[in-house]
Amino acid sequence: MSSLQVPFNKPSLVGNEIKYMRDAVRRGQLAGDGTYTERCCNLLKAQLEAPSVLLTHSCTAALEMAAMLCDLGPGDEVIMPSFTFVSTANAVVLRGATPVFVDIDASTLCMDPDAAAAAITANTRAIFAVHYAGFPADIKRLAALAKTNDLFLIEDAAQALGSTYQGKQAGTFGDAATFSFHETKNVISGEGGALVINRPEWVERAEIIREKGTNRSQFFRGAVDKYTWVDAGSSYLPGELIAAFLLAQIETQDAIRKRRLSVFDTYFEAFEILAEERQITIPKTPPNCVGNGHMFYLLMDSLGTRTEFIKFMKQRGVITPFHYVPLHSSPAGQRFGRKSGDLSVTDRISATLVRLPMFFDLGGDVETVIEIATEALKNK
Ligand SMILES: *Cc1c(COP(=O)(O)O)cnc(C)c1O
Repeated sequence: MSSLQVPFNKPSLVGNEIKYMRDAVRRGQLAGDGTYTERCCNLLKAQLEAPSVLLTHSCTAALEMAAMLCDLGPGDEVIMPSFTFVSTANAVVLRGATPVFVDIDASTLCMDPDAAAAAITANTRAIFAVHYAGFPADIKRLAALAKTNDLFLIEDAAQALGSTYQGKQAGTFGDAATFSFHETKNVISGEGGALVINRPEWVERAEIIREKGTNRSQFFRGAVDKYTWVDAGSSYLPGELIAAFLLAQIETQDAIRKRRLSVFDTYFEAFEILAEERQITIPKTPPNCVGNGHMFYLLMDSLGTRTEFIKFMKQRGVITPFHYVPLHSSPAGQRFGRKSGDLSVTDRISATLVRLPMFFDLGGDVETVIEIATEALKNK
């Protein structure tokens, strides 16, 4: 084992995090929905031109709220990619509804709209799209599909803050969208998330669901004179310390994105020729899209090659994890959901994808990673 250690991810302070957290303590409110939560929401609302943005304690929580807003229940089906994080499916399962897993497109690694169309039945209520690696899914086609079939469209934009599709931000296309500020994402607060509501009829109910089923938010705005229990809900809001940390990150998001995109470009240029020679695939920004540098991955030609690659990199001190066990082949996926159509792209991608280190302070280590990875690939 070499002494060099390049982790896959490392959270960084990028601006006023500590200053804002101190100020939050000084102000005397550490529970949620104080000044810092409001400032975060206002910035995100402006960026996403949304009627409402609610901070949550995770993207998982925001997805649960979205599933409640869709009024999902037993018998209802929700179409989603099999190649996604468990939270996309859990939100549906927690409502007693059935996730229906479909294949992804081999070039974007996002839901294949044809597979989604083929999965629609009389019981389908919603499509949960995922913007994988910060590249937007074919969201206009998915939105058209949802509209034609009278389905809700939810964007799991956990990885896609700041990405655009035809000049429009990811998270602006669905009835609602969810973002994650988990420490592995671009803009972070340790744990954290946001629910973006683009459907005005949902705004009031979303506030109620988030505040334990009470009309507390309306009460504090002076819109009602009593604060009481009015609907089913839970506690989905983060405290002010999280929001204070997050505000500093949101304010710096352009610089964060720029830096990550520059790492992405460095990787891309380094592996472009080699990828062709060695039958490796590297991510390509889909037409009319701008990514946010969330991730850089390599697709190997087999599971064996990937296993060797990860081992070689680890021996040299570089951590390069794979991603998602497909949900359709996971124990809970088989128990709670079903698959629709052929999922061969998902199976292949899941067996061959490996992610390279990508974080704000990666700095010159990007060259080290490239050097060692090049050696690994030439040995293959
Ligand atoms: C990270 C991620 C989530 C979960 O985010 P949390 O904030 O950790 O709950 C959900 N979906 C996708 C696609 C993700 O990448």
